[in-house]
Formats: sequence, C-alpha cells, structure tokens
Amino acid sequence: MTTVPAALADAYALLRDDLYDHLDRAEFLAMRCTRWDAQDTATARRLIPDLVDVVRAALAEHETGPHGRCRGCHQAWPCGTVREIHRTIKDTERVIVTLSAS
Ligand SMILES: [Zn+2]
Repeated sequence: MTTVPAALADAYALLRDDLYDHLDRAEFLAMRCTRWDAQDTATARRLIPDLVDVVRAALAEHETGPHGRCRGCHQAWPCGTVREIHRTIKDTERVIVTLSAS
C-alpha cells in the first residue's frame, strides 16, 4: 500500500477543505431565510452555471471509453462516479425543485 507524504496529504486536505467551503457558502446562500437582495440574486446567477459546469466536468471525465469502461477510472461503465452523480441528481427523495423544459 502506498502512503501519501505528509506535505502532500496536507495539500490535499487544504484543497478538499477549500472545495467544501465553496459548496457550503453556495448552500448557505440558497438556504438564507431573508429576502435576497440584488447582490444575492447576481451571485446565484453566477454560481448556478458554475456548479453545473462542475457536474458536467465530472461527467466528462467519466465518459464511456473503449470496451464499455470509464475513461477516467477504468471501471465498467457506468462507474461509481457516474452512478453517484445520477443518484444524487435524480434522487426523488431530495428533489425540491422540479425543472421544467420551458
Ligand atoms: Zn469513472
């Protein structure tokens, strides 16, 4: 088993913490009970496409490759990443907003 050097593990932790902090702040904005002001609306309009891009990038990294295997992680497709993204997005228990085609 290969271990990650301590300095690299610290760097990974900082990266992970930074990503979670960004997501926490996005979630906080969405869950604010007060009325949104113009700045909140502008922030949400920038944030939503950015978060959609993150999901698209993760899906693109895990597309079907040759022989039905994931290009990213080489598992049989759909790999665990794609299954988890699909489960999270399409989870009927968590769906708060139903998106319409219009
Ligand atoms: Zn994959």
